[in-house]
Amino acid sequence: MRSLSRHPLRLLFLSTSVGPLGSGLGGGVELTLHNMAKALSDRGHTVQIVAPAGSVCAHYAIAQIEGALQPTAQTEGRNAAIVMPANAVLANMWDYARHVQAQYDLLVNFAYDWLPFYLTPFFDPPIAHLVSMGSLTDAMDRIIQQTSALYPASIGMHSQAQASTFPAGLQSRILGNGFDLSLYQFCPHPERRLAWVGRIAPEKGLEDAVAAAQIANVPLWIWGVMQDSAYWQQIQQNYPTAPVTYAGFLPTDQLQHELGRCQALLMTPHWVEAFGNVAIEALACGVPIIAYRRGGPAEIVQDGKTGWLVEPDSVDGLVTAIASLDEIERQACRAQAEAEYSLMALGDRLEQWFAAILD
Ligand code: UDP
Repeated sequence: MRSLSRHPLRLLFLSTSVGPLGSGLGGGVELTLHNMAKALSDRGHTVQIVAPAGSVCAHYAIAQIEGALQPTAQTEGRNAAIVMPANAVLANMWDYARHVQAQYDLLVNFAYDWLPFYLTPFFDPPIAHLVSMGSLTDAMDRIIQQTSALYPASIGMHSQAQASTFPAGLQSRILGNGFDLSLYQFCPHPERRLAWVGRIAPEKGLEDAVAAAQIANVPLWIWGVMQDSAYWQQIQQNYPTAPVTYAGFLPTDQLQHELGRCQALLMTPHWVEAFGNVAIEALACGVPIIAYRRGGPAEIVQDGKTGWLVEPDSVDGLVTAIASLDEIERQACRAQAEAEYSLMALGDRLEQWFAAILD
């Protein structure tokens, strides 16, 4: 296998088409794309980003593409049909890619959408597909399976738990994730408060964290994009006296400052979380994680060392874990982030993945 670090690649990153970068609507994909751009450009590769108009991603140049946003896949049922709005930004982004493809060695697709998979054989450069969620619809399973059969190295996922939600036999490369840990400050002495971070949407299970905070009587601070305000209002009606504060969606530097001052991060998703970027952001600040033993967080948390893994959907389990937080050393949390989730480690895994695709 050739050493890619000696052969800088020209990479075209095609972002998610459910929202502009920086809006939070794309969930963890937004930070993942940023982190991958940094990990690879630090190694001398050239990264050009293509994203919906209005996107911002640190200092990176972005080809801004107009058009209608895609609906999010997690809000649809298993039998959902493929949806393409008129003047779809997704189609426009791939049309742009078609025009510029000769300038690139490899295209990287960050959208959990049917079209980029379908288009793979019609492009000259290979396409690496980073699948950001578990199996959600039959149509997506089918096109991912077909793409994997044609290009066995082309599918990347974040965790084993995510990969195992797809039909058996699907080949994929497990990439985890990596973070610019210099952006996250270790906070040794938290205040008496808990954190919950993520899109406010039913699959994220915020109500369980609110219930646990009420029983434990510890203030819960919530940060994230308000994706489903009816869901949030229902939680407030069900728990009118819970000690919770919704503090909006913050950029990374502010989020890490707030998050670092918390005793723990509660992760209570009701779906199989593909990874859970916020888990690593918490660890990087020295914040232990209390998470259900399911999906990506169950592969990240070292039970009893960097947090507690709790029986899925058990609010009582969360409460017990909150009471046991002083058994966790915050320094061990930061150490885990440094050992396993640095940009260096991610860059190594990405270069190996791309080498396999280009072979
Ligand atoms: N996030 C943020 N500011 C906030 C709350 C969340 O930037 O105030 C980001 C966070 O850094 C993470 C993403 O939102 O990258 C949530 O991603 P995660 O992988 O945890 O879940 P997803 O939304 O993809 O299901």
